[in-house]
Amino acid sequence: MTRNAMWPRRTIAGCLVLAISIFAGQAAQAEIVPVPLIENGMASLRVVHAVNPRLSKLSDHELAILLEEMTAIVKMHFGISLLLDKPKQKTVAELLAAIPKKALDIRGQEIYDFKTGTGNKKRLIDGYLKTLRSWKTPVAKLIDYASPYLVQPVSFRSLRGLAEALTQTHLARLEYWRTQPAADGKPMLDETLANEWIAWDLLGYNNMPFDVIVTNQPVISAEYDDGGLNSALRGGVSAGSTGYSKSGRYRTYSFISTFPFTEYKKLFKGSSDITSRDQAVRLAGKYMAHEIGHMLMLLAHPFANPACVMRPEPLFHFATWAKNLDAKKCQIGSSPAMTPGAAKIGFHPDW
Ligand SMILES: [Zn+2]
Repeated sequence: MTRNAMWPRRTIAGCLVLAISIFAGQAAQAEIVPVPLIENGMASLRVVHAVNPRLSKLSDHELAILLEEMTAIVKMHFGISLLLDKPKQKTVAELLAAIPKKALDIRGQEIYDFKTGTGNKKRLIDGYLKTLRSWKTPVAKLIDYASPYLVQPVSFRSLRGLAEALTQTHLARLEYWRTQPAADGKPMLDETLANEWIAWDLLGYNNMPFDVIVTNQPVISAEYDDGGLNSALRGGVSAGSTGYSKSGRYRTYSFISTFPFTEYKKLFKGSSDITSRDQAVRLAGKYMAHEIGHMLMLLAHPFANPACVMRPEPLFHFATWAKNLDAKKCQIGSSPAMTPGAAKIGFHPDW
């Protein structure tokens, strides 16, 4: 995981890059999660279905299918048999209420508040510019990649022009999400932090008794310290992530948000290739196996190899992503990113 990667964390829908970057400048206070020891090729995980009761959710049957798909892919690609506890159910509010205040006070400063109009646009542009510069990728290549998904073309072909266009696209899409109603007529994203990726990354700082979280909560946000290309193009929508957990069986936990899967019709045109709800549920399960690869083996992102579960999907083309998977062409140890321990998940023991 490196800041030179073309697809920072949200690409993935989350994942580790953000956590790693945060700790880069604070190595003295931070520690790194050790590579888990998997005994007899089996891992036992505790599952919770975290439900926002205002939004449509998976049925128990669909949840079971999602977990089956996840388990099958983990076995096929990582050779690990998962033993899952019977899923518990909690509300999203209950889970988020347990985040320690200190962690939220510190990390919360990186949240761009798009719901009250107090976000600092210039700071967001500067964040994008900093990330784009750090990649050392030719500007023309970046602009060609991003252009089909921008709400308006890049006004002048430079890194700053691209940073401004990315910010504009990110903010336009956030504004779209902000005004979307839920089934009850009230806004889909309420005034709480439930939609903030940073909140979902801090759940492990309490003694949460779960390793795997499946949620119907849309995780849609912008952060000043994480200006990645795809986070803008996806309009800040995350699919999942893996982070430190004090009481995690393997010192981490993973979540998957079913929103960008089951609500594929709500995503902007051309960004999703899902065509049915059943397919959506199965793809969410397969994509959760990506997070389990971070959790159980600390694998990173082999961006160039589409055969790998660990290659993050940059937008929402999860059907194509799944179609390309081939365990034989992406074995453990076959590339630096596919080597256990490649992903460094940092944490603050004093939070
Ligand atoms: Zn990932």
